[in-house]
Amino acid sequence: MTDRWTTRGPAQTRALGKRLGATLAPGDTVALCGDLGSGKTTFVQGVALGLGVAEAVTSPTFVLVREYRGRLPLYHVDLFRLDHIEDLEMVGYDEFVSGRGVTLIEWAQKMRERLPGDYVEVTFAVTGQTARTVVAIPHGPRAEQLVRQWHTPR
Ligand code: ADP
Ligand code: MG
Repeated sequence: MTDRWTTRGPAQTRALGKRLGATLAPGDTVALCGDLGSGKTTFVQGVALGLGVAEAVTSPTFVLVREYRGRLPLYHVDLFRLDHIEDLEMVGYDEFVSGRGVTLIEWAQKMRERLPGDYVEVTFAVTGQTARTVVAIPHGPRAEQLVRQWHTPR
């Protein structure tokens, strides 16, 4: 099952993320793809709301990963400036991706071979000044369950 939404404005992208965030469980991984400005960080802000994170979520571009405390730990990774895949080890990627939190990875296409066996891929595309299309593709049985729960009429 693939799912596709069109959002009109950042608030709708946040709302979409919030719905996903409400259903995430320990060990879930979400790979976020799409160009700069397509809405990946905006979406993560919504997921954080759905996980009950009180802090404001900002882009972790220069630090690779930020951790937030909500109902579950949220690891927000941004690989935009990743030059060497080995840098992932330095930030503890292997530990947290298989741990008790949930991991969201911007520019995940840069590390496709290091993604876990089961993850949801969400791709964002700019289709207008404030319009974005959001396409979710599940990779694995848990991801399929997540996408099914996430689905609502658009
Ligand atoms: P990315 O992390 O993919 O680089 P950001 O979420 O940081 O993208 O930025 C998206 C930008 O586009 C923000 O300035 C946001 O306000 C704007 N925007 C306009 N319309 C939308 C929309 N429908 N969804 C998400 N962001 C939108
Ligand atoms: Mg971003």
